[in-house]
Amino acid sequence: MSRLTRRDFLRSSGVGVGLGLGAGFGLSGCAGTMTGDIAPKSGRRVVVIGGGWGGSTAARYIRIADPTIEVVLLEPNREFVSCPFSNLVLSGQRSIESLTLSYGGLRARGVKIIHELATAIEPDTKRVRIGEGYLAYDRLVVSPGVDFQWEQVEGLAAARDTVLHAWKAGPQTVQLAAQIQSMPDGGVFVLTVPRVAYRCPPGPYERICQVAWYLKGNKPKSKVIVLDANPNIVSKTGLFRAAWRAYPNIDYRASQKVVAVDTSTREVRTEFDRVKYDVLNLIPPQRAGAIAVQADLVGADKRWCEVDHVTYESVKQKNIHVIGDATIGLPVPKSGNVANNMGKAAALSIVSLLNGQAVPLMPPGNTCYSWVSDREAIAVVNAYKIENGKVVQIEQKLTPAQSVSVAQRAEGWRQSIWADMLS
Ligand SMILES: Cc1cc2nc3c(=O)[nH]c(=O)nc-3n(C[C@H](O)[C@H](O)[C@H](O)COP(=O)(O)OP(=O)(O)OC[C@H]3O[C@@H](n4cnc5c(N)ncnc54)[C@H](O)[C@@H]3O)c2cc1C
Repeated sequence: MSRLTRRDFLRSSGVGVGLGLGAGFGLSGCAGTMTGDIAPKSGRRVVVIGGGWGGSTAARYIRIADPTIEVVLLEPNREFVSCPFSNLVLSGQRSIESLTLSYGGLRARGVKIIHELATAIEPDTKRVRIGEGYLAYDRLVVSPGVDFQWEQVEGLAAARDTVLHAWKAGPQTVQLAAQIQSMPDGGVFVLTVPRVAYRCPPGPYERICQVAWYLKGNKPKSKVIVLDANPNIVSKTGLFRAAWRAYPNIDYRASQKVVAVDTSTREVRTEFDRVKYDVLNLIPPQRAGAIAVQADLVGADKRWCEVDHVTYESVKQKNIHVIGDATIGLPVPKSGNVANNMGKAAALSIVSLLNGQAVPLMPPGNTCYSWVSDREAIAVVNAYKIENGKVVQIEQKLTPAQSVSVAQRAEGWRQSIWADMLS
């Protein structure tokens, strides 16, 4: 593939310049100062791109399963910020600090972390480029999450710094919370939901609950207008409908795909309508993270990566395993819980393959909690099996109603899964 400059790459991946200066294991300076073989390989090495839900888990489990394998993790952010629970920052019930975790636990397990972006993958030579330098690998894990299709909404590319998505937890989450807090009573909060597939199917509907809960108590004359590109609520439908009975301030409009935004008139345009906003939260359509698209790991749709359902090896490139939200073709949602499960399965597959052993069958599972108020939550559980080499759903169960006890369980899930990724 053609080589990109760091600046080109940052523009297309939407990652801010300056996030990842400095590097791990004896390296210092920015990518621009890295040339040649950044860290010559002396044994078996796995490079992991992305220290989010999938990548952190994979890095951790490779080291647990076989500490003789060197693991190098590339992640521009110096700290991990959890998307799960970040909707509670918008209602003022959590701080972003309470969702921010250190990579120290992974370092203590011997994972070598470089806080830089991977700028290209070279499958033929088994190298990952970081600016002018490169790292060699035996196997590569790619878990870059999602990037946004700005071009799908007219006016959005130019306004992408001011029209907030808050769909990657971090500074935008805090900015959106501040916008909601400073909105006048009587103001209109507009939230737009893209067509599936997108990261976290129930996430937008949980967010609607949180914002509606906050406005009901603090700005009772305000309302939430939801412009959903889908024909109905796409996850936990009945449970969200029941929860919304407590929020008459929600105006939900199905099959309303946003096609344009105009920040000068504070207006969004759908295929059928124009809607004025005081605060806009536009969640854009999504695709696999830029590095996966540029390395041509995506399928014919140019959006998502198809993988082997047992090993997570790319169907397009040998020795490269893709996990997390960037994948498609498995009957699983794009969730942190699934990314964590994929990280474990890919890790144990890689260790087995490098040691010439049989690969274990590890079907994923998913439990997803959504907070519908300050104290109550709902949940869905999905179970899967592997049949004839493919992941197949066995069953799906929903909690009967919203409750405080499900919310308490959500807290337990959060603690245990964060430890399973990062400790
Ligand atoms: C508001 C919200 C609420 C959610 N709630 C839940 C929930 O309750 N439960 C649940 O299970 N899931 C939830 N999710 C979904 C969950 O956050 C994602 O499914 C999960 O983060 C996917 O993991 P990932 O590893 O694929 O991507 P991420 O966790 O996004 O990690 C990708 C990482 O890759 C890095 N990266 C990208 N490109 C490069 C590159 N070129 N080089 C190096 N690094 C790179 C990024 O900096 C990032 O850290 C929620 C999501 C949102 C937005």
